[in-house]
Amino acid sequence: MKQSELPRCPECGNMPEYALKPNHMGWVWGGLKCPYDHYRVNLNGPAGSRAQAEKRLAPQWIELVGKANREKTE
Ligand SMILES: [Zn+2]
Repeated sequence: MKQSELPRCPECGNMPEYALKPNHMGWVWGGLKCPYDHYRVNLNGPAGSRAQAEKRLAPQWIELVGKANREKTE
């Protein structure tokens, strides 16, 4: 999924951004977050590549935003 296709931050409406960092072994650590840090999801373990990290984080972000939006309307 492309970054521009991800749901926006429920708080400020900004597009989330990946904050990923490879370590010296080449494993990728990090998360996906609102640029203002309203919401963020983190990898629970290192990913083998940036693409894999993005693939794991996208559904977590979608779930988090969905949950936040549901709580807002309750
Ligand atoms: Zn935000």
